[in-house]
Amino acid sequence: MLRLLRRLLWLGCLWAVCLGVRAEPVRLDAAPAGIALGRQLRYLEDPQGGLQLQDALARLSQFRAVQQDVPNFGFTASTYWFHLRLQNPGMQPGRWWLEMQYPLLDDVRVHLLRAGGAVSSFPAAGRSFPFDQRPTPHRNLIYPVELGAGETVDVLMRVHTESSLQLPLVAWEPDALALKDRNEQYMMGIYYGVLGSMLVFNLLVFFSMRDKSYLHYVIYIGGYIGFQFALNGLAFEHLWPGWPEFGRRFLPVVMGISAIGALNFTRSFLDVPTHLPRVNRLIGVHVAATAVMTVLTQFGSYTLAIKLASANALLLSLAVSAIGLCCLLRGVREARYFMLAWTTLLAGLALYPLKTVNLVPSSFFTEYAMQIGSALETLLLSFALAHRMKLLKEQNERIQAEATSQLERRVQQRTEELDRALRDLSQANAELQKLNALDGLTGVKNRKHFDEQLALQLKVGQRSGLPTSLLLIDIDHFKAVNDQYGHPAGDACLRAVAGAIARSLYRPTDEVARYGGEEFGVLLPLTDAEGAVFLGERIRTAVEQLDVVYEGRHIPMTVSVGVALRTTLAMGGEQLIAAADTALYAAKHQGRNRVVLAPPLAGAEPAPSSEGST
Ligand code: GH3
Ligand code: MG
Ligand code: MG
Repeated sequence: MLRLLRRLLWLGCLWAVCLGVRAEPVRLDAAPAGIALGRQLRYLEDPQGGLQLQDALARLSQFRAVQQDVPNFGFTASTYWFHLRLQNPGMQPGRWWLEMQYPLLDDVRVHLLRAGGAVSSFPAAGRSFPFDQRPTPHRNLIYPVELGAGETVDVLMRVHTESSLQLPLVAWEPDALALKDRNEQYMMGIYYGVLGSMLVFNLLVFFSMRDKSYLHYVIYIGGYIGFQFALNGLAFEHLWPGWPEFGRRFLPVVMGISAIGALNFTRSFLDVPTHLPRVNRLIGVHVAATAVMTVLTQFGSYTLAIKLASANALLLSLAVSAIGLCCLLRGVREARYFMLAWTTLLAGLALYPLKTVNLVPSSFFTEYAMQIGSALETLLLSFALAHRMKLLKEQNERIQAEATSQLERRVQQRTEELDRALRDLSQANAELQKLNALDGLTGVKNRKHFDEQLALQLKVGQRSGLPTSLLLIDIDHFKAVNDQYGHPAGDACLRAVAGAIARSLYRPTDEVARYGGEEFGVLLPLTDAEGAVFLGERIRTAVEQLDVVYEGRHIPMTVSVGVALRTTLAMGGEQLIAAADTALYAAKHQGRNRVVLAPPLAGAEPAPSSEGST
């Protein structure tokens, strides 16, 4: 009985206190866009966080008016109390929703104080409590407020968070909230749809191409999606609703992963190792520092982790912009789309705070600037990757074409060299053949060549039926020349005789060869016996008239000539030579220095007649 009395007394006091505070109530008129309550709020800082509801109520007169559209106290260890008075101006009872449009509040307690001292308190909610403890299952904290016709209610909110403390508070009529939420869901569906499909698509491209740029892109976008998902409360709602602690660990990790992905992506996409080797080392350091920091902050306070991760994100934006700009100025073609994408994201990120401080008008575009910027960036980067593939392909084709033309040039060069070598070789071969056909001492043809020519001319003669003659010439008493003047003198004589014989032959087909030691053979195609004898005589005379002088001594010489004519078509080379030899022998026998014609073979057909005289 006593307790009930005390309680009633206490609540009565509270009501009296509230009434004593001269706060203008917010009239909840119909407002389809919701009523932003920022400037209607009054707040009290509680550095120790120990104030209870009655303590706060007792200090209600010390609450100060919020001077911003959205109260923002940054990272703070203090707890903040907010007070607000709402009034239903209508003639009908109604329900309104109070939405805290900031999902990163850890611990929020809301109390409603009604006329007569009735207090209703909602269960503690926020990131530190399981999701199902919330008054409404929504990514934002949304509280229902029922008001009778003309009723006024005092709302007291105790807010604590390790993130930056902000309280964007909006009052909605149920229909307006449903409409806003519907549009928001729609936008988010598109947003995560774009980002998710780019992620999956580029992951598949990576699997097929094995180009690391795609993997870094996927890591960057994956981390960024995780970051956004956690930031707007969807991750808590859908991924770990019963595990509040996890969300606070998650955010710095995805920020770290995204930063590492972005740095590595920049490095490999712009080929920083080639274009800016020194900067490349710095990026390596940045990546390693980010990784270490991300791991270490898991063991420290959440506030510190978020502060470091945010500072790192700022540093990264500056670094990536600077690198992109450098590459652009150096004419790296890949840098164009890269910078376009990056600028789009930064513009989107910059628009959001500009809108918050009313420097740009609030519109659909500025409201979703961050999302639009990052979705466009994702698309543009994906396009940049495809464009880069095209550039690489072009480069590849150019290199291939160059290699081919170089190869062709080299093949042509080699072919020319080979041709030249072959020409030289065949020239050398011809030379060799010529040498092979010559007699070393006298320079006229040798016996081997003579035999070949003889066989050939006999065949030609056989076909044409024209006569072929042969002379065998032997120097008379040559042994005596050697004996008397010496062997070198003999050699000189042989050369002189060979020259005399050669000079005596006019037809190009006539051919002289050294047949033996001091014997010469002369082949006379198309020549009959009369002509051959005539030629033999001319040679004999020529030798006789030779005046060989060796070491001041005149050496007279004569030759004996045996002439043979092919008398039958079947007559072979050996027979012809034997006949000439016989004639030569006869010439020697008859006293030397003469020409003797071999007699026709017994029983032979008549020899073909000469076609002309010599
Ligand atoms: P004949 O009048 O009967 O022909 O008397 P000949 O002395 O000329 O006798 P033969 O035809 O048998 O001569 C052969 C000689 O020719 C032997 C050698 O002294 C000489 N002779 C052969 N080949 C060479 C050579 O290459 N150089 C020199 N200097 N002498 C040679
Ligand atoms: Mg002889
Ligand atoms: Mg002789």
